[in-house]
Amino acid sequence: MCYAIPGKVVEINDKIITVEYFGEQKKARNEFYNLALGEYIYAQGGLVIQRISEREALPVLESWKEMFHELAQVDKNLARETKTMYEKANAVRHKYSGNSCCVHGIIEFSNYCKHNCLYCGLRKDNKQLKRYQMEPDEIIQSAADAINLHGFKALVLQSGEDDSYTAEIMGSVVKSIMEKTPILLILSVGEKDISFYKRLYDEGARGVLLRFETSNPQLYKKMKPDSDFNKRLELIKQLRDMGYLIFTGFLAGLPGQTREDLENDIKLTTALGTDMFSFGPFIPHPQTPLANENKPSLELALNAIAKARLACPEAKILVTTSLETLDKENGAKSGLMAGGNSLMINLTPEKYRKLYEIYPQRAGTDIKVTANISRVIALLRSIGRAPTDLGI
Ligand code: SAH
Ligand code: SF4
Repeated sequence: MCYAIPGKVVEINDKIITVEYFGEQKKARNEFYNLALGEYIYAQGGLVIQRISEREALPVLESWKEMFHELAQVDKNLARETKTMYEKANAVRHKYSGNSCCVHGIIEFSNYCKHNCLYCGLRKDNKQLKRYQMEPDEIIQSAADAINLHGFKALVLQSGEDDSYTAEIMGSVVKSIMEKTPILLILSVGEKDISFYKRLYDEGARGVLLRFETSNPQLYKKMKPDSDFNKRLELIKQLRDMGYLIFTGFLAGLPGQTREDLENDIKLTTALGTDMFSFGPFIPHPQTPLANENKPSLELALNAIAKARLACPEAKILVTTSLETLDKENGAKSGLMAGGNSLMINLTPEKYRKLYEIYPQRAGTDIKVTANISRVIALLRSIGRAPTDLGI
């Protein structure tokens, strides 16, 4: 976003390049550009997404210079404490990734879904939900606003599993977004054919957010009665092999989930070669079969982040909106201080945002986008995080 820092290419090793940010070096994969040493780029999630001229890069770097070093010092000071598990996880995060933190936007373009996941408010049998579908042009316009007005460099396009968005339609949406300004485009649209994903990859999409939801096959069958656990895992692996960055993970605190399940969830996320851990607490929705179940404690959700960080020191770990919803006051900050290093901002047009009700009272639905961005920037500054890329 406006919160992004360009890096200078200092080494090129075929598709892997080294980028320097104020003396710190990070690696990134370069697929799109024929780069030379000394050029400037923006990277997201370890992928080079934009080449920019020195004339554009230098003023941005100048405006960040002083603040970057101040932020790095704040983060270093905060990461000194190592008594509690959260503090230990935070120190590990600092040691391996420095104060980098990425902020992605999310546009939720349809709340129609053909599935009946027990936990989700978008499930087909929830007849009380008013449904919406954004037109392709509306999706393209929302993405353009996110990129041009707010400076986002990574966007998630998310929906229920809605087959009316065919490969042709989504292919042209992705093409149109990428033609204007290349960004890291991440798809979160469920279990589509491999040909769908191939088409969108060819148009420039490079990330897939597809959680396996739980590593326990019996619990999976209960929670997602119309989906096959092995098929979903297989799809995640195929998409990884196709070249997509994989954002995956699980729901923490599902009814019937054991402590051992949660440990296996973290292990499976790691084993899948995940590029970004995405897991959040389950929040009961009143129009689902799990309406009367308890939501997990903040502690359970933070423990999952800290354990994932300690198990996988170099991971990119998203602090999810569901964690922010669990504790609107402190959820995001607590997640970032327990090992998290990425955040998501809701950019769905206001008239649709409340209708994308996977769970009730989602954080970020009642606030204007500009105010939400300011809030996130203030939070990141208060804990010394900077938007240099997390690298690979
Ligand atoms: N339909 C797609 C993407 C949209 S749902 C899919 O299912 O992959 C995105 C995520 O929302 C799901 O992966 C699930 O983990 C999460 N989710 C759904 N219901 C939830 C709830 N009640 N509490 C917390 N997260 C929920
Ligand atoms: Fe549909 Fe995804 Fe919700 Fe399941 S989790 S009901 S697939 S939107």
